[in-house]
Amino acid sequence: MTARLLDGKALAARLRARLAERVAALPFRPGLAVVRVGDDPASAIYVRNKDRAAQQVGFLSRTLHLPATTAEGALLEQIAALNADPAVDGILVQLPLPAHLRPEVAIAAVDPAKDVDGFHPLNAGLLASGLPGLVPCTPRGVMHLLAEAAVPTAGRHAVVLGRSRIVGRPMAQLLLAADCTVTIAHSRSRDLPALCRQADILIAAVGRPELVRGDWIKPGAVVIDVGINRLPDGRLVGDVAFPEAAARAGFLTPVPGGVGPMTIACLLENTLEAALARRGLARAAA
Ligand code: NDP
Repeated sequence: MTARLLDGKALAARLRARLAERVAALPFRPGLAVVRVGDDPASAIYVRNKDRAAQQVGFLSRTLHLPATTAEGALLEQIAALNADPAVDGILVQLPLPAHLRPEVAIAAVDPAKDVDGFHPLNAGLLASGLPGLVPCTPRGVMHLLAEAAVPTAGRHAVVLGRSRIVGRPMAQLLLAADCTVTIAHSRSRDLPALCRQADILIAAVGRPELVRGDWIKPGAVVIDVGINRLPDGRLVGDVAFPEAAARAGFLTPVPGGVGPMTIACLLENTLEAALARRGLARAAA
């Protein structure tokens, strides 16, 4: 079997084009504010990409770049100012923060209605309760990829590798909401290969290069590789051994070009939803 590739780059481009059309028809421009603290080089690239993508779909986008020495109180004051700013619909605090700043404190300071990363405990709680709220971007992107490939979810066994707040947990909640039977595995789980072989839908969000081997995959399964790992030789690989998986899976996402591009597209989608919801024009989607 040769897996069908799920092209996240192309789907993200279509999603952004649809968002741009919707924004062009609005009487206002949604506003996104990104808070970056310090000089982490990877964060600088991510923030620039988010800013560019936001402007391309017609949002007002601004980046607040604070020095690495910023005190927690000063960061919280800046977040409070963005919460109060009517031109700002979405706020995200770029992670990681410098070591002296507590990410959970910064995230909890964001107005949940503007929490376009979907990391605020209120939004996490809404998702866990099966209620509408702002949903983390990467898992949301994965659900788009599954829908685009018309992958049936009801009654299917989904195995999620990873239980982080950003990917694994919300991913499992979304799959549960889509009527999958969900197993969540993590670093203390026993016999990962046997767990994975049960999966009709396998989501790898672990951050370990090529951990998932071909013989862990049930023939014909849908395999979504969230991992992004840089090898010492500079190559970028996922959490799934791609050539082996391609020979077994029914559907497979490449790295790069799979889940990654969907994350930013979903950030834009969340920002538009937050903008509409704040104006009473729509409810944030579950
Ligand atoms: P975290 O490090 O926060 O979480 C990793 C999870 O994987 C943890 O739950 C951990 O278990 C589990 N884990 C680690 N090692 C193993 C192992 N050997 N076996 C089983 N489980 C293991 O990472 P993130 O969730 O933030 O990210 C995961 C990956 O996804 C990374 O490669 C990251 O770069 C990528 N990513 C990609 C995005 C995209 O847009 N494509 C966006 C966000 C992340 P435990 O909880 O027990 O420690």
